[in-house]
Amino acid sequence: MAIEYFRCMMCGHEWEEEVEKGKDVERTCSQCRSNSIRRFKSEPPPKE
Ligand SMILES: [Zn+2]
Repeated sequence: MAIEYFRCMMCGHEWEEEVEKGKDVERTCSQCRSNSIRRFKSEPPPKE
């Protein structure tokens, strides 16, 4: 298990989640239910 970071491109919501290696699960934003999610291996860069 590894922690990865996610950011919703629609509303900017960020969260972290434990992911299983090799498993690519489709995620949706818990705030707006968009599936436009960006995934980061480490802390996401600060917003502009
Ligand atoms: Zn969202």
